[in-house]
Amino acid sequence: MIEDQMSTFMGFANIDAVIDIAYLIAATLFIVGLKDLGSPATARRGNNLAATGMFLAVGATLLTPGLKDIPLMLLGIAVGAVISVWLALKVRMTAMPQMVALFNGTGGAASALVSVSEYLNRGAGDTGNLTWRVAIVLGTIVGAITFTGSMMAYAKLEELMTGRPIVYPGQQLVNGIIGIAIVVLSYLVISGGDIERNKIYLLAILVLALVVGALIVLPIGGADMPVVISIQNSLSGVASIFTGLVLMNWSLVVAGLLVGASGVVLSLVMARAMNRSLTNVLFGAFGAAPKGGTAGVAGSGEAKPMRSVTPDDAAIPLAYADRVIIVPGYGLAVAQAQHAVRELADTLEERGVDVRYAIHPVAGRMPGHMNVLLAEANVPYDQLFEMDLINNDFQNTDVAIVIGANDVTNPAAKTNPGSPIYGMPVLNVDQAKQVIVLKRGSGSGFAGIDNDLFFKEQTSMLYGDAKDSLVKLNAAVKAV
Ligand code: NDP
Repeated sequence: MIEDQMSTFMGFANIDAVIDIAYLIAATLFIVGLKDLGSPATARRGNNLAATGMFLAVGATLLTPGLKDIPLMLLGIAVGAVISVWLALKVRMTAMPQMVALFNGTGGAASALVSVSEYLNRGAGDTGNLTWRVAIVLGTIVGAITFTGSMMAYAKLEELMTGRPIVYPGQQLVNGIIGIAIVVLSYLVISGGDIERNKIYLLAILVLALVVGALIVLPIGGADMPVVISIQNSLSGVASIFTGLVLMNWSLVVAGLLVGASGVVLSLVMARAMNRSLTNVLFGAFGAAPKGGTAGVAGSGEAKPMRSVTPDDAAIPLAYADRVIIVPGYGLAVAQAQHAVRELADTLEERGVDVRYAIHPVAGRMPGHMNVLLAEANVPYDQLFEMDLINNDFQNTDVAIVIGANDVTNPAAKTNPGSPIYGMPVLNVDQAKQVIVLKRGSGSGFAGIDNDLFFKEQTSMLYGDAKDSLVKLNAAVKAV
């Protein structure tokens, strides 16, 4: 009998040690993977390492002694895996922010559900210790806010509802009242007492946090949405930290810490690249002003025409240029023109032209968007230059080719204090001797404003889908 108990104890002790070691290896893989994601050259390996870490962590968790309903969990994992593999294969590059929003939302929902169900499963009189109660309440609040906030962001970006900021009188007051109610109820649950009463309070906190999560995102729109998604990414990490504390699962705490911290860094980088503070993004209702603007040089009152050219016209200065800078933007992703641009660059290089790419930190719809696209087409990394490294070279450049980029090239950000993007660092494309802009028509960029660059004397507009225009331009350069 004693021997049986001993061997059971030893078995559990061994299993616990195996689980702890697996969690340690998983946490190490997360950290090394995250570091590798910092460079395009190692990003793929980083992704694989982090995925291996997560596989290990999930496997180790399933070994936990006393776990019930394992078949149900395996079913949940299988359903989740099928949905996410299908999504990953199907998603367009331009819809990446929406996909990240969905991931954040489901992460937040999982944290909130785990926190609430752990609390509801407690027997009478068993209120847990203070740390546990704090983790339960915060896991519920942060997880629920992340869930509905992310769903609202998804709906806006997917255009299931207007993407513009929605503002109404007393908005902050309503949020404030709900916020105070959440604080009072949280205090009551955390301070212990009658658990049956507190279970009802926790459910009320869940509902209020779900409401406030959606209300916070309602007045945010336009170019701020990707920053909001990055903030929610960070929040989903914070919610996981609390869930990890509730379950005493250190692997979850480490993963949550990494997601939370990297989300904060990313949000700050994005906000800085747009010259906005995080507070301003969250409470500034950027883009609430009507879309469009003057048909001409914004802010000048002039109505100048844009000069359109054919691929044959545009090919001549390119073919005889010494230095060319390519400026990719969101339209390159829409047109999936990454291979076509590389082919044009190859043709130019064969003619002895020095070709480089200027990458603005918020070109496209997520940080690194352009790097990922161009890497897919095997554009050499040493041809990609961050804005700060190339911005002074535009003045010595014969031709700048702007491909589906708009806001990130708008000189109004430097010269027009009335512009919504005034102060945002932009690429000095206007300093190039000639500029060829590839876009479909007169559509504005994400910020919804006119671009002074398109009206400059040295600028020519080559209208059409970017991929189509690049193929024609390439053929025309070859023919010169
Ligand atoms: P923009 O959104 O400013 O402009 C994209 C342009 O591409 C449009 O003017 C559109 O004009 C053109 N376009 C669309 N489809 C095609 C196509 N098939 N072929 C050719 N052209 C096309 O892009 P930018 O990259 O310059 O700027 C990014 C914006 O996103 C900034 O406002 C930035 O602040 C914001 N943002 C980005 C974040 C990030 O992390 N990257 C984060 C937060 C915000 P037309 O319709 O006439 O073709």
